[in-house]
Amino acid sequence: MNISPQTSFDYRKYQAFPAFEMAQRQWPDQRITKVPRWCSEDLRDGNQALINPLSVEQKTVFFKLLLSIGFKEIVVGFPSASQADFDFVRLLIEQRLIPDDVTISVLTPAREALIERSFEALRGAKQAIVHLYNSTSKIQRERVFNRTNAEVIDLAVNGAKIMQRCAMEQTETRWCFEYSPESFTATEPEFALAICNAVGEVWQPTVIKPVIFNLPSTVENTTPNVYADRIEWFSQHINNREGVILSVHTHNDRGCAIAAAEMALLAGAQRVEGTLLGNGERTGNADLLVMAMNLYSQGIDPELDFSAMNTIVETVSELNQITLHPRHPYAGDLVFSAFSGSHQDAIKKCLAMTQPDELWNVAYLPINPTDIGRNYQEVVRINSQSGKGGVAYVLERFLGVHLPRWLQSEFSQIVQRSAEKKGGEISPVELVGLYKTRYLDQNNGYRLLSFNIQREQQDILEARLATPTGDISISGVGMGALAAFINALQIYFGRSISIVNYDEHALSTGTDAQAVCYIQLKDNGVLHTGIASHNDIVSASLNAVLRCLSV
Ligand SMILES: [Zn+2]
Repeated sequence: MNISPQTSFDYRKYQAFPAFEMAQRQWPDQRITKVPRWCSEDLRDGNQALINPLSVEQKTVFFKLLLSIGFKEIVVGFPSASQADFDFVRLLIEQRLIPDDVTISVLTPAREALIERSFEALRGAKQAIVHLYNSTSKIQRERVFNRTNAEVIDLAVNGAKIMQRCAMEQTETRWCFEYSPESFTATEPEFALAICNAVGEVWQPTVIKPVIFNLPSTVENTTPNVYADRIEWFSQHINNREGVILSVHTHNDRGCAIAAAEMALLAGAQRVEGTLLGNGERTGNADLLVMAMNLYSQGIDPELDFSAMNTIVETVSELNQITLHPRHPYAGDLVFSAFSGSHQDAIKKCLAMTQPDELWNVAYLPINPTDIGRNYQEVVRINSQSGKGGVAYVLERFLGVHLPRWLQSEFSQIVQRSAEKKGGEISPVELVGLYKTRYLDQNNGYRLLSFNIQREQQDILEARLATPTGDISISGVGMGALAAFINALQIYFGRSISIVNYDEHALSTGTDAQAVCYIQLKDNGVLHTGIASHNDIVSASLNAVLRCLSV
């Protein structure tokens, strides 16, 4: 590999993030046993990160989708920064689109005019969260704002006071206050705690009237266990803990937004801000769809309904104009598919043993795909890596035939060669086509015209056959019609013919009761396979033998 000399690719200019020393952490021994408060950031963090931000109409569609899923806390925008967001908040309130049990939230910087404008946007709301933030990280304090620690705390405290005054002037709304030390992960833990305690001094939270302290991983800069340590430390040290709803808001810079949020829940967080499918600034937010489904798959009610997964994914992808990765957990096109033969075989066996009332326990499938409107047909996908289990499964699903094991091996080799030649996936329709071409449509010129059997000590069979060289009559004896037929063929052709494998079953699909017969026959030392179906099992077996004959 050539690295272009123009790039600056060089790890030596980076350094590990400072360690956070924490003794006797409790969170690794905890379990997530109940659902957190979910807060959707789709219309704020998600929207502000879109190439084409949502129109008011699109936001309304998105808002209704969030309601239908069951979100009770929804951030609806940044009304002090954007007229479109302001208009959207007004529309929600004036058109009474907010159900009584849903709380909308808006984000505001800690500046008087902007806080006042945010309250103006919310006028008439039954209840609302006003979310105050300012940047607290060392780098922002020193390099961006050039402020001392005391000045940064003053900014937050003043913002908190202005919010209190504004709330007193709009008493028709039930207010909840939220504060975020923005870029918490890059802020010294002691400073983040000090600024939250200073804000708490102003707001005086109680169990009845709690405040939300939201600790964002604005930029993810460590492994998620370090984030969890910091959340636990904060939870242990914040004043008036019972009056605080501890909230997290994680980003995915290192690919661990969900892990960080989940570990934070172990560490005492009670609320999670995130988005559907993880949209959001840069690498995105924690994906609340995946987090909720993670709980669901552990037998915990996620209080969000993703049964209409396909519709949800289509709507979100279309509104955000972001296509979903096919391997996105729970939601991607390929996540309930198995290409590997051994996986297919295991899934097939587990599904066959699954009883309707028992707990879900299927290898390779963490949840039942039908829970979210997906189906089993797509579970087994066929490519050159697939084995006989998957091939047999598809034929069962689509043709109702149960290939015997010896035939599964033979046919899966045909499928594998075809997949290699094509260089891609074989669809169920193509697979059925291969089966029909190989076994059902072949015409060697032999056909059963009529037969009769006399049953004595042995069976005596006489038959009329069409052959490539004209009609013939044959007869033979044996134990059973098939043995007598083989005997007749041996006598007529004067060559060694014997049955190697024989299987039959009733076809499980179709209106007429039909039997299908699979025969492997050795004709002059060469193996041949023949398959035939008929409403009479003897006719099916004789026809299958004729399909085996060399032309
Ligand atoms: Zn964010």
